[in-house]
Amino acid sequence: MTNVEVRQSSIHNKGLFALLPLRKGERIIEYTGEKISKKEGDRRSDEQEASGKPMVIFELDDKWDLDASVGGSGAEYANHSCNPNVESVDAEGKIFLIALRDIKAGEELTYDYNFDAEAEHTPCHCGSPQCRGKINRPE
Ligand SMILES: [Zn+2]
Repeated sequence: MTNVEVRQSSIHNKGLFALLPLRKGERIIEYTGEKISKKEGDRRSDEQEASGKPMVIFELDDKWDLDASVGGSGAEYANHSCNPNVESVDAEGKIFLIALRDIKAGEELTYDYNFDAEAEHTPCHCGSPQCRGKINRPE
């Protein structure tokens, strides 16, 4: 990580922050972790939630998840926002955080987690005027 750093966030726990100005469309960091089955991912999410650890399971696709608690790049610290400045993009099976607009040094990097609308609602505290009050996609 040369373009970002992890530090305390006003949104939630720790967050990911730009150290340098980033350009719109720039590939910022790869989201890495152990590739595990959906079933194992669900099991580990429950475990992480129950133990109060940060939940760092990324839904890769219908079959696979990434667990960033094993070999995470730091991208797992990026918080959710309903008005994000980065997005997660799948490039041939690799997940990258890409800048949605020009970002100034020092800004917190956030993306829309887009949790399943049907899943249990997770309250959002992103503080943006567009906040939908939950991390889940709107129904
Ligand atoms: Zn929000």
